[in-house]
Amino acid sequence: MTRDERRLLDDLEQALASGALRLAYQPKVSTETGQLVRVEALVRWTHPVLGAVPPARFVPLAEEHGLIDDLTQWALRTALRQWREWHAAGLDTAVAVNISALSLQKLDFPDLVERLCRALDVPTDRLVLELTEGATQPLIKLMDTLTRFRIKGVGLAIDDFGTGYSGLIQLRKLPFTEIKIDRQFVTGLPTSRDDQVIVRSVIELAHGLGLQVTAEGVETVDQLTALRALGCDLVQGYLLAHPLDPAELVAWASRHKRRWKLLVRPPEDALLRQRLEANG
Ligand code: C2E
Ligand code: CA
Ligand code: CA
Repeated sequence: MTRDERRLLDDLEQALASGALRLAYQPKVSTETGQLVRVEALVRWTHPVLGAVPPARFVPLAEEHGLIDDLTQWALRTALRQWREWHAAGLDTAVAVNISALSLQKLDFPDLVERLCRALDVPTDRLVLELTEGATQPLIKLMDTLTRFRIKGVGLAIDDFGTGYSGLIQLRKLPFTEIKIDRQFVTGLPTSRDDQVIVRSVIELAHGLGLQVTAEGVETVDQLTALRALGCDLVQGYLLAHPLDPAELVAWASRHKRRWKLLVRPPEDALLRQRLEANG
C-alpha cells in the first residue's frame, strides 16, 4: 500500500466512525408508468482536504484492507433508517444497497440483515441488494447465502450485467430478482446495432427467467424511448435524476410526474429536448 493509500484508509476509517459519510439516492423509475419504484443508495464522502472522493476510489481500498464490512453495515443501516423516514412521510418506495461480494461471504450476513430490517421496522421485501461479481468472488459460490436472502424476502439484483464475470450460468442458477444492464450498453442506444441487439437479448433472457430489468446510465430521451420500445422495466440515470440527498428526493418526486409526461412525449424542437435532458 502506498503512503497516500494508507492515509486515505485511515481517513476513511475516521469518516466512518465520525459519521462523515453519507448516502445519495438515485431513483429507478418504471418505464411503463413513470412511477418511482425504488432508489439506489450510493455512498458519498467529502474529504476535508481532497474534497469529494469517488466510491470507485475508496470502496476497493476498504475491500482490500478489512473495512468493507463496517462500510456495508453502515450503508444498510443508513438506507433502512432513511426508508423508514420516507415511509412515515408518505413516500412509498423501496431501497437498493450496493453490497460487496466480500461482505456476502459471512454466513451470518443474511441473519444480520434480517435483524437490521426488524430493528428498524422495514419489511424485508422493501430492500434490494445489488451485487457485482468480481474475479475472486464468483457469485455462484455464494448460492447458500443468496438463497437465504430470498427466503427472507430480500430482493437480489445483479449489477453491471454484461461486464466482467457475470455470466449466463449465474443467471440460471442463482436466485436473482433483477438484472441491471450496464451503462456501456445503454450509451450506444439507439444508434448502435450491436448495443440494440445486446440489450434486446438481455431483456428477453431476463424476462424468460422471470427477472426484472433495469437499464443504468440513461442520459438521453432517445435512449429512454428505445428502452421503452424494447420492454425494459426500469430506468435509472441522469435523464431521470442524479443521485440526490434525501430531502431533494422528496422535492424531485413531486416534480417528476409532470416531467415524465414530457419525457415520454418529447418535444420535436431540438433545443427544448436539450433543455429537458439537461434538467435531470
Ligand atoms: P454502480 O453500482 O454501478 O452505480 C452506478 C454509478 O453510476 C454511480 O456512480 C452513479 O452515480 C453513476 N451514474 C448514475 N446515473 C448515471 C448516468 O446517467 N451517467 C453516468 N455517467 N453515470 C451515472 P458512483 O456513485 O460514483 O458509484 C460508483 C460505484 O461505487 C458503484 O457503481 C458501486 O459499485 C460502488 N458503490 C457506491 N456506493 C457503494 C456502497 O455503499 N457500497 C459498495 N460496496 N459499493 C458502492
Ligand atoms: Ca449498483
Ligand atoms: Ca451498475
